[in-house]
Amino acid sequence: MEPASDKIYDTLKRYWGFTAFRPVQEQIIRAALEGRDTLALMPTGGGKSLTYQVPTLAREGLCIVVTPLIALMKDQVDHLRARAIPAVAIHSGLSPRQIDIALDNCVYGDVKFLYVAPERLATEAFRLRVVRMNVSLIAVDEAHCISQWGYDFRPSYLRIAELREKLPGVPVLALTASATKLVADDIMRHLKFTEPHILRSSFARPNLSYSVRRTDDKNGQLLRLVHNVPGSGIVYMRTREGTEQTADFLRQEGIPAAAYHGGLGHAERSLRQEEWLSGKVRVMVATNAFGMGIDKPDVRFVVHYAMCDSLESYYQEAGRAGRDGQRAYALLLAASDDSDRIARRFEQEFPPLDKVKDIYESVCSYLQVGIGDGGEASFLFNIHDFCAREHLYSGTVLSALKLLQQNGYMTLTDAQDNPARVMFCVSRDELYKLRVQRDELDHFIRTLLRLYNGVFTEFRPIDEGELATWSGYTVERVKELLKRLWQLRVIRYIPSNRSPILFLNEERLPRTDLYIAPETYQRRQQLMRERFEQMVAYAANDSECRGAVLERYFGEDDPAPCGVCDVCLARKRAAKAAGASGTPEAEAAALRETILRRLAQSPADPRQLAADTACTPERLAEAVRELLGNGKIATGKDGLLEIIP
Ligand code: ADP
Ligand code: MG
Repeated sequence: MEPASDKIYDTLKRYWGFTAFRPVQEQIIRAALEGRDTLALMPTGGGKSLTYQVPTLAREGLCIVVTPLIALMKDQVDHLRARAIPAVAIHSGLSPRQIDIALDNCVYGDVKFLYVAPERLATEAFRLRVVRMNVSLIAVDEAHCISQWGYDFRPSYLRIAELREKLPGVPVLALTASATKLVADDIMRHLKFTEPHILRSSFARPNLSYSVRRTDDKNGQLLRLVHNVPGSGIVYMRTREGTEQTADFLRQEGIPAAAYHGGLGHAERSLRQEEWLSGKVRVMVATNAFGMGIDKPDVRFVVHYAMCDSLESYYQEAGRAGRDGQRAYALLLAASDDSDRIARRFEQEFPPLDKVKDIYESVCSYLQVGIGDGGEASFLFNIHDFCAREHLYSGTVLSALKLLQQNGYMTLTDAQDNPARVMFCVSRDELYKLRVQRDELDHFIRTLLRLYNGVFTEFRPIDEGELATWSGYTVERVKELLKRLWQLRVIRYIPSNRSPILFLNEERLPRTDLYIAPETYQRRQQLMRERFEQMVAYAANDSECRGAVLERYFGEDDPAPCGVCDVCLARKRAAKAAGASGTPEAEAAALRETILRRLAQSPADPRQLAADTACTPERLAEAVRELLGNGKIATGKDGLLEIIP
């Protein structure tokens, strides 16, 4: 038989229709086939999924993929199934029976990919089945979650080491887009690598021009960019109201724009997204709820109205521009008081320990879980509803939940589309009596029972559309009938919704037994601060190539200047002006021009100017004196030089 390593190009072509691997993909795939443990570091969108999918398809056996995001898990499973590749996912949004069926298919069926949420690894259903599966590879997506030095630490990831023990000889492929050296070492240690092995691809984006504008007129700057750069774009804002206001502003200026945020209904969100994808809406003004899993190659610009919490988020969001390789722009708008404001919000978001415990108790009460109950159970958890009811700020609640998660008490999944669920709260006999009495509902109940057996014992996911098809009613009517049955206390009915799921790893503890390790608490606070400081430094920098700053952040030792960011461009212009010398008089004039152009972007101090224009302090001082003298520039109240309009 042909060795699997010769088949990888065929596999790539056959299932995806691609003819070439991207840089480093092939190396990673070959390492997996050779049975080498590997840590693959690639930017988001770089093509990490193929690196475990191709080797698995090129040979016998099944690949277990550990990944924390349910939405992405579903995307991947759909994507594979669309290519006729059998794949299943198990996560906290499924019923125990659905999980059993999926796991049995992995033991007896021809499943090639089993996606598992990390908190599922510890459950008995999984542990008993996994040893009977023919596993060829363990892929660990978002592998940085295993490190306590990473911001997204999830204790359940540490369980992967036990999984390895159960599956001796099966190689592991760890994938991440963000790992400092410390985190990378941690990943390899916790995943029990036989020897260290890292393959990384570059984080450089040669066609993406990064820039920063310090301005108190963000709308004006945005408008300038939108007028100068044709094509579609994204504007990221911090708040939901902000997205609506800015979208309004753009529309008033005649630019087709829409707002997108988590407060919109599901249908509204997909409609707006569709309109943006098709180009009908040119600019999407969104919170960071927008963009994950969206594949639009020709985004020409991404503008940030505010700093992100970290450079990772910034790189990822800005990086949605220019996927097609054509020139694109990533602009960060910073106001003078931005960092102070965010620092204050940061303090507010980090709750004191007592508050964390309060929130634990409120959440359990909200979910109606008593002390000693709720172990390994999952609940739909609408955080906005919870915050509104308890009068809490969502940032505080999220921080508290993260801390509880890091201490192993619970897992909060990402928001996902949850199907409607139904369970009967009467017995079959009682139901029979009722059906005789109310025959208008009889037909409907019969359809319900025919389609979904098991509704007497547990909440079953149902599909209102399917019920409509089989009963002959419209979807609206089906929903009404379900509500009727609910009012009659015949069923319990949870309409379809979009919300995260909260999984309780352990039963609810009395408050006194709840222990938040001080290390995790302080470490989290510290990491949050450090990450934010890096973001502030990015915005404040005026002298170093922005692409290089980002590459260094992602672990490149000696990055080359990108040549297309605002810093690189200013430097090139300055060099050109200096080169087109001729007389000393012409040279001085060119330098004054360069300074004016530079100050038109944002005020600067003389040190920054010297760096940006690449000239000696003496020549710069002379040019600045000249410009101050003839009233072209002035010293602003914060001591920075600025243009006089
Ligand atoms: P990541 O997990 O690294 O964020 P994905 O695996 O989701 O990235 O891949 C991002 C996109 O790149 C997908 O649309 C995928 O089809 C595409 N892609 C990956 N590898 C290749 C390749 N060799 N040729 C063309 N497109 C590819
Ligand atoms: Mg991925």
